[in-house]
Order: sequence, then C-alpha cells, then structure tokens
Amino acid sequence: MTGPLLEVVDLTMHFPVREGILLRGHKVNRAVDGVSLAIMPGETLGLVGESGCGKSTLGRCISRLYSPTSGTIRFEGTDITRLGRSALMPFRQNIQMIFQDPMESLNARHTVGEILEEPLVIHRLGDKVSRAKRVRELLDIVGLPARSASRYPFEFSGGQRQRIGIARAIALNPRLIICDEPVSALDVSIQSQILNLLIELQREFNLSYLFIAHDLAVVKHVSDRVAVMYLGRIVEQAPGEAIYRGPVHPYTRSLIAAVPVPDPHREVKREVIAGDVPSPIDPPAGCHFHPRCPMAEPRCRQEVPLLREVDKQHTSACHLSPN
Ligand code: SF4
Repeated sequence: MTGPLLEVVDLTMHFPVREGILLRGHKVNRAVDGVSLAIMPGETLGLVGESGCGKSTLGRCISRLYSPTSGTIRFEGTDITRLGRSALMPFRQNIQMIFQDPMESLNARHTVGEILEEPLVIHRLGDKVSRAKRVRELLDIVGLPARSASRYPFEFSGGQRQRIGIARAIALNPRLIICDEPVSALDVSIQSQILNLLIELQREFNLSYLFIAHDLAVVKHVSDRVAVMYLGRIVEQAPGEAIYRGPVHPYTRSLIAAVPVPDPHREVKREVIAGDVPSPIDPPAGCHFHPRCPMAEPRCRQEVPLLREVDKQHTSACHLSPN
C-alpha cells in the first residue's frame, strides 16, 4: 500500500458543558477543533503541546474510545468514524493504545497472564493452549521473564508495568499504536529503555505510532514527523529535523526554546511563553495563541490563521509565516 495508514480530516470533538444545580448549559468544550493529519505505514508522528491542548482527546477519537463530533477518520482507506461496535472490531484489532499510567490501565485484580490473554479472548483468537504460548511470546518480546504471567501488576516496577502495557498493545499484531504520554510517568533512566523498546518493535513489526507527549526532547527521539497542537488545533507540522532546526510558528519556537540545552557554553535565546493555555470552553477569537504570542498583530485577534505550506512537507498556521 502506498497511501496513508491513517487519515484524519477536519476532526472535531466537542463536549457539552453542564453547569448549575440542574446541570444545564449551552457551553461547549472544543477539545479537538478541526484537526487533519495522516500517518504512513511504519511512520511515527509525534504530537506535542502543553497539557490541556487536546492531544489525548484526539488520540482517543482516533482509537474510537470517543465518538467524534464531526470530521472523518480513515484507516487503510476505510471510513471508521461512525462504525458501530461490531463493524469496528477488526479495526480495534489494528489500532491499539499505550497509556501514560500503566498502573491505572492494567486491571490490578488480574494476573499479567490474564491481562495479556484478554484481547485474544475478546477477539476469539486461538484456544487456551495457543493463547498461553502467545502470552509467553509477548513477555519475551518486551523483555520480561515467562514467570511474570502468574504475578500481579503491583508486583512490578513502573518501567516493567509499561512493558506489560506495551505487550498488551501488540498482542493482536496491530498496525497503529497510539502512545499517549507512554514515558512521562517514568524515571528518566527508565524512559530511554522504553523508548528504545518502542523503536525496536516498530522496526520488527512495521508499526506506525501516533506518539503523544508534552516533552519535545522525548518526541524528537522517536518521531519522523512532528505536529504541534494548541487549543484543539494543529498549528505546525513538519518532518522532525525541520521542525527542530527551523520552527516557524511562534508557539513551536517557544516550546523548543523551553527545552533544556545540555551544553552550558551554548547561549540560547529563550522565548518564554507567557500565561497558561486558555480554556477550550471559551477560546480566544482569531488565532487562539494571540493572548500569549509575542508577535501578535491586531488582525490576529480576529482572523483565524489557516494551516498553509511554508516549505516542502512543512505547514504552519500563523499570519506571519513565510509563503
Ligand atoms: Fe502570533 Fe498572530 Fe501568528 Fe497567532 S497568527 S501565532 S498571534 S503572530
């Protein structure tokens, strides 16, 4: 196949906000507000932005844990946006998730063997014997001993638990894995082990990743391309190297300037982002970033900047971006 594995077109996810004693209201949380992106087979798209910008919601829409408000999600060319439960089953097999906190995402009352067998049972794959063999195989792939199958999640360290989460995600041989902040709850020393494991698995099984993180240094390590998200919208998208060498959008530049530089002799001009991410319930008009942007002009308060190409495979949504 030469087309994208995943294609998302103008996707929105709006949550109604209930207020007051009667829980009524007409306000809407625009968590995802018109996102388009594509992921090729074997590719990693990094998705970065501050907490609360809609990254995880987008990931949950793509894996159909949420039903999007509008827009289209295509997987291998098939529109899966509105598929019902049974029609969605084969796609669920192909799109899996790894969550930030493995302790919360693993059932504490089940053994690791039961946790890893569960997706195979749900999808009616194999018999008891072949499933037990697959569980041992999965543990071996993620670097855990076979005896782990009879133990419970609380008996493992954070890094080992994330290995179990990864084993569960690959149990059904998926094509795409949504990695939602998979290392941000781990010690720095463990983070690189888990990232290297994900890279090895990608090479071995030709996996595609949507790699969600707020830490640009982590995303840089794993991504072929990077999309930067701010308040429900993609504001810049480019190949990994291009976005780090020549960020165009003021928000991306601020994020990159905030990454610590390990060289004490290198002077870095910092563009610190003022303030917090505004509420997606009442986002600023025009460019959502204008209240925090050091380069904002009067038109930024009224006109929504559209994503447009500034270089080959490089798009930016800023009125001041070069043509
Ligand atoms: Fe800043 Fe205006 Fe560009 Fe938005 S459109 S990032 S406010 S310069």
